[in-house]
Amino acid sequence: MQAASEAMVSRAIADVLQRVAAATQRAARQRPVRLVAVSKTKPVEALREAYDAGQRVFGENYVQEILDKAPQMPADVSWHFIGHLQTNKAKALVTAVPNLSCVETVDTQKLANLLNKAWDVEVAKRKLDVFVQVNTSGEETKYGVEPADALPLARHVLQECPNLRFCGLMTIGMPDYTSRPENFSMLEKCREDVCQALGLSVEEIELSMGMSGDFEQAIQMGSTNVRVGSTIFGARDYSAKQ
Ligand SMILES: *Cc1c(COP(=O)(O)O)cnc(C)c1O
Repeated sequence: MQAASEAMVSRAIADVLQRVAAATQRAARQRPVRLVAVSKTKPVEALREAYDAGQRVFGENYVQEILDKAPQMPADVSWHFIGHLQTNKAKALVTAVPNLSCVETVDTQKLANLLNKAWDVEVAKRKLDVFVQVNTSGEETKYGVEPADALPLARHVLQECPNLRFCGLMTIGMPDYTSRPENFSMLEKCREDVCQALGLSVEEIELSMGMSGDFEQAIQMGSTNVRVGSTIFGARDYSAKQ
């Protein structure tokens, strides 16, 4: 299938927002859930269509791709980096994307330290938001800390990285993207432990979980930040990109 046409992207955004709102209401949650439009591999035209439909938060997975796209989009876009971030690219990402809002994939102290060092609070007038990525599925190929290691890394960000704001925990489900409620409940349990140990309120600490196939279930299970790609922009064609 070809990339979705303009009308399709704006219609898909409206549809997903409506489903997010309904799921939020069903879960009886007070605060709105953030929709991150995951635009990896999609052309800037598709992102502009989403922007014109009112979408402001975009998620990208690859450093080179976000470096290419960010300057071509309006400055009021909030960029979320949601891919694996190699430590040697942290500085380039932070320097080249001044409207970077959030790195959702912090999984080592070293990466946290490098982001903290590269982020200039004076210039940005805000801290850089970060999530600690947790590997809840136990797959070796997946990045993220073990659930037991989320607390020490969260503590490190809070206590040693004054230029970063610890937002919460992020996880990716199984590779076939089927719903795995146990991954979601594990992340929620992890948040409980982190909040209790660090004296934080659970309401203040976010959970980033849920993608196209399972975002409503994720919201039901406590997600505050859903990352939706193919349902908005159409299926990704990786072969065309190579
Ligand atoms: C690609 C990606 C998504 C979006 O996946 P869809 O199934 O297309 O919605 C969400 N989160 C991460 C980390 C991704 O890499």
